[in-house]
Amino acid sequence: MSRVVAVLGGNAFVTSGQHLTMDGQIQFAHQAMLQLQCLFTDDIELLISHGNGPQVGHILTRVELALGKAYSIPLEVCVAESEGELGYVLELALHNVQARLGKHRPIAALLTRVIVDENDAAFQNPTKPVGVFYSSIQAEELRKQGFAVCEDSGRGFRRVVASPIPREVPELGVIDQLLSMGTIVIAAGGGGIPVVRDGNQIRGVEAVIDKDRTAALMADQLDARLLIILTDVPCAYLNYRSARQTPIPRISPSDANQLIASGHFAPGSMLPKIEAAVQFVNRPGRKAIICDSSSLSKSLLGEAGTTVEYP
Ligand code: ADP
Ligand code: MG
Repeated sequence: MSRVVAVLGGNAFVTSGQHLTMDGQIQFAHQAMLQLQCLFTDDIELLISHGNGPQVGHILTRVELALGKAYSIPLEVCVAESEGELGYVLELALHNVQARLGKHRPIAALLTRVIVDENDAAFQNPTKPVGVFYSSIQAEELRKQGFAVCEDSGRGFRRVVASPIPREVPELGVIDQLLSMGTIVIAAGGGGIPVVRDGNQIRGVEAVIDKDRTAALMADQLDARLLIILTDVPCAYLNYRSARQTPIPRISPSDANQLIASGHFAPGSMLPKIEAAVQFVNRPGRKAIICDSSSLSKSLLGEAGTTVEYP
């Protein structure tokens, strides 16, 4: 038996530049699961995680438009709702793709809490943009209401929230048992529902957790053999988007750390993926792959994608 954790980027549910729709998400998830079918074998225990950025943006819009008519929900509940929505979409896709292949592994999507540290420095310095874009006047109004708002890449103003480091996944024992029973598990969508400890109690916090970081934490603690990070580029590059752009086919964790230090990976996109790969590949025998879903089969053979492993 070997354990594999596969984390899907936002593009598993929509093509860039297109509108997000329910039908579109179901179709895209189906395509993504078709590409993943090489992982639906009896000798693989499979945990799937996924992003939720665009979906949470839409949920926040619904909350805002319904103010005064329907009760408001805080950000961590938006994350929980997105885990419900996309967990269902992935369950449909996994069921239907397996059925076509004549396979019937049980599937379970779990609402997954992730414990973060209340004193995490991220709470003093919110950096992660969420939700819709605002004009500068609207942004000023939001600031007066106590929200942190930032300019986002010349496209307008957006709310920014803390992105603290995931420390612990309370659901991990359940995930472990389900995997051992042969269940394909979908967990920690959107990085998980952020909660903090308060004595022996826990409560939700206004934050979003990076999905690649949570996937690495789960893969490490579940002692997976392989972490697959699926995104919308075929691999990680040196000198990305420059004339000297070069694919990185295979790299050791220590060389990856050097490339991180020289600034080859953009914060908020490729950097968390490389960091997640390095965090997980902390001993020989473990491997992390960064690729797009269409090059997954080749990447598993070392013929595409970026593989992080000991030399
Ligand atoms: P996901 O939804 O899969 O997490 P992200 O947008 O967060 O997607 O991350 C993938 C993006 O990272 C790519 O589309 C690419 O634009 C960007 N990126 C930044 N630096 C690099 C790099 N060095 N090599 C490849 N892609 C990079
Ligand atoms: Mg991302």
